[in-house]
Amino acid sequence: MNSESDMREVLRRCWGYESFRPLQESIVKSLLDGRDTCVVMPTGGGKSLCYQLPAAMRPGETAIVISPLIALMQDQAAHLEQIGIPAAVLNSMLTERQQQDVMRRAAAGEYRLLYLSPERLARQDTVRWLQVLPVLLFAIDEAHCISEWGHEFRPEYRRMKMLRERFPGVPIAAFTASATRQVRHDIIEQLGLRNPDKYIASFYRPNLRYLVRETDARTQFDLLLAALRRHEGASVIVYAPTIKGVEQTVDKLEERGIRAVAYHGQMDATTRRRNQERWMSDEARVLVGTIAFGLGINKPAVRAVIHLSLPKSIEQYYQEAGRAGRDGVAADCLLLWQKRDAGLLAHFIGQISDRQETDRAWQRYHRIREFVESRVCRHRQICEHFGETRKWKPCAACDVCGCGAEWLEAAADAAPLRRRKGKTKRSSPASPARRGGNRAHPVAGAKLEVNADLREYLREWRRAAAQERGQPAFVVMHDSSLDELCHKRPRSMAELRGVCGFGEKKTAMYGQEILDALARFERGDRATNDHS
Ligand code: ADP
Ligand code: MG
Ligand code: ZN
Repeated sequence: MNSESDMREVLRRCWGYESFRPLQESIVKSLLDGRDTCVVMPTGGGKSLCYQLPAAMRPGETAIVISPLIALMQDQAAHLEQIGIPAAVLNSMLTERQQQDVMRRAAAGEYRLLYLSPERLARQDTVRWLQVLPVLLFAIDEAHCISEWGHEFRPEYRRMKMLRERFPGVPIAAFTASATRQVRHDIIEQLGLRNPDKYIASFYRPNLRYLVRETDARTQFDLLLAALRRHEGASVIVYAPTIKGVEQTVDKLEERGIRAVAYHGQMDATTRRRNQERWMSDEARVLVGTIAFGLGINKPAVRAVIHLSLPKSIEQYYQEAGRAGRDGVAADCLLLWQKRDAGLLAHFIGQISDRQETDRAWQRYHRIREFVESRVCRHRQICEHFGETRKWKPCAACDVCGCGAEWLEAAADAAPLRRRKGKTKRSSPASPARRGGNRAHPVAGAKLEVNADLREYLREWRRAAAQERGQPAFVVMHDSSLDELCHKRPRSMAELRGVCGFGEKKTAMYGQEILDALARFERGDRATNDHS
């Protein structure tokens, strides 16, 4: 029996969370009841917990998680290990020996969760091997990749059709952050889900502020600069349309003394991984990438996602922009588009040979143009696109409804003016608005007021702790937990347990170090080097 109190107990003990997010508890119950399940929940909604928690509650059984990105799987497995839940990734990055080892331990039922790539799952030998494992459930992450109607179709996802036949007694759960009604049907049909429990969470992300603006090439860069100044010291993702665009943007930013790293498909794998790691570990705050960047990137405290061209579809935009503010704290999603982007998209659609695919591409094209050009609340347009109807009030968190992004207005007004005067050096166009703040913006998890010195001091500790263990900083502790630490300043292990994110194992692992660091800070110790 798994009573509700058992679930909550595990949630508190392992994760250090006080309560479930919307839908999580019901989804966990469906999975523990062995039912096929289809979950649509926006990025940051907490999908991983929905399959991790049931797995944590069933010793001797293993949840198989299929996810398309190796980096993401590794972060998740590392995090699970840190909170005391045995987990592993099986992929081709491991040596033959390591793979053998993981397989041996998996066969002995040692892992609560085992992560596999879709390619790995498609192998005949993998399927045969899985049939002797004590499989609790299959969790298919980023399940929209199975649909041609989705914006990230992956042919290898189609091979998962065989799961239903090969494992008739094992529940399958599909998870995605982006699925229209059509894609949802496709997921259920392709995976052969049997009378699945369906959960569709709201797509409304009140902590995101959507700012859409048509611009020209030169003004676009001024606005980008203004946005980066506005979010100085915070993690930001910039999406450029092409590899050349990525490189030029990085160069231009570096010229202005803004440290940025590039990420695109044509870099050699080592540089790309290093750049991603530098950004993940907060060493570089600004990452400029093509859309190749980010599927499954789960850095929680991204304060802005900035697009330098028109995305191909609303789903794509929603998913990329949704990488901002996953911690629930306010974040900006800035879409700076140009008329010529539309021409370029149309050009590419013209080159698609498949008739049906062309039709689908035009549909997406018209919807995204409507999105940027109409004067309807951006939040509302997105939610309605995903089939969500609700009563709408002006949201105060998009450019249409008005949301106090004076810094953007100021920068836009200043851009042509400055050029007319022929000035090259400029004062910070964002500075007046910095003072104004964005008070109009309603925030889900309001940012705590914290002592900036203490924050920097603990960040420094976290950087060292992460480096020592070879983990990204957020695996050690999220920014939101860090802020809560600064706010509560716990003096004992018991008090530390009251901080969100500190479960039993994490408290045991880092607790004393953190209490010591806090005590040193009280005695006047301060951060040494400034990494921001
Ligand atoms: P998704 O996969 O839906 O985008 P994640 O599973 O990565 O979202 O979770 C997003 C963030 O929310 C993570 O930082 C996670 O630790 C946090 N989170 C999930 N569930 C809870 C909860 N019940 N209480 C507090 N934080 C949670
Ligand atoms: Mg996820
Ligand atoms: Zn609005």
